[in-house]
Amino acid sequence: MGSSFLSDRVNSIEISGIRKFSNKVSKYPDAISLTLGQPDFNVPEKIKKAMIDAINSNKTTYTTNAGIVELRQEISRYLKSMGILYTEDEICLTVGGSEGLMSVFSALINPGDKVLIPNPSYPAYESCVKLLGGSILNYKFNEDYSIDFDYLEDLIKKENPKIMVLCYPCNPTGAVLSRNDRDKLHDIIDKNNVLVISDEIYASLCFEDEYYSMAQFDDIKDKVIVVSGFSKMFSMTGLRIGYVCAKNDIMSGIVKSHAYNVTCTSSIAQWGAYAGLRSCLSNVEYMKREFIKRRDFVYNELINMGFKTNLPKGAFYIFPSIKKFSLSSEEFCERLLKETRVAVVPGSAFGSGGEGYIRISYAYSMDELRESLHRIKKLL
Ligand code: PMP
Repeated sequence: MGSSFLSDRVNSIEISGIRKFSNKVSKYPDAISLTLGQPDFNVPEKIKKAMIDAINSNKTTYTTNAGIVELRQEISRYLKSMGILYTEDEICLTVGGSEGLMSVFSALINPGDKVLIPNPSYPAYESCVKLLGGSILNYKFNEDYSIDFDYLEDLIKKENPKIMVLCYPCNPTGAVLSRNDRDKLHDIIDKNNVLVISDEIYASLCFEDEYYSMAQFDDIKDKVIVVSGFSKMFSMTGLRIGYVCAKNDIMSGIVKSHAYNVTCTSSIAQWGAYAGLRSCLSNVEYMKREFIKRRDFVYNELINMGFKTNLPKGAFYIFPSIKKFSLSSEEFCERLLKETRVAVVPGSAFGSGGEGYIRISYAYSMDELRESLHRIKKLL
């Protein structure tokens, strides 16, 4: 029985299905795990050196709440190269994308406020909204991962939501925002009183030539917030550095909730990310090329085995359908783990729209990918 001290809201959420499954995997020491969103590259050397230098020169005190201006200026420059314009005053450095998301939601949600959340999607959105007393509305996708606009527009008309969350490149499907969907969304956001929270933590891993974001429109800029970070970009998940971009008034609210939550993020990680943006973009390009090779390998193997799946266009996940096996995604993953010692995440961990799918992370070495796909083939 749970403790009576716990709040109803905390009792209403569960630990993430991704973590739950990766915890199960630890009971099988010989298993290959393709469960986590952790790139297998080391942090680039120049970032390590910058962090060591920051310690040695005693850059170890609190920074301002929003973080060091040097890094915020570099982020502003970097985003400009993607057609996204924010000044350093419109950027706040956070403890990873996770705290960025929570600080944004905390600054915006009143109890009962309705929030549109993609289904399937990264589980933190729903849990954050529930913790704050918001109410969830799910929108869905077509088979090709484009947004089901008829469903979405109907939902907006009927429910009058306050916020819409977008996640591109997408965890768990690997979809990116197409130009067509971006433009259609623009018209919807323009017409309705809805604020977009655009989670672009995988932006540096977009495999397409053009990158599309809702933050590229000037005329709806006051209705768009970007959450992003360096965990995936520089393979520095444990160093906990991300950022949020928003126009002035909204940013003031976000900085308030961020300040009472964490004061500021680690000064050392801030200097590390600063060196990363200044000197390690070629490392990011290298990682991206490697992920494309792995994506192609995993995609082709799955197709050859008869799985139905779309080619991912970003991030490092693929989301094949397992519907033809007539097992729930949880049962499929349990069997895969027990019988072949390969761990992947049940699609149901990402919401009801993920049932009938599995998420394979290909942020693992080619050897691990080759061996695990060989085992899956043998099981089938
Ligand atoms: N958004 C998405 C879509 C993610 O997949 C993740 C991490 N898996 C995050 C946010 C949080 O990132 P961070 O590690 O920087 O907190």
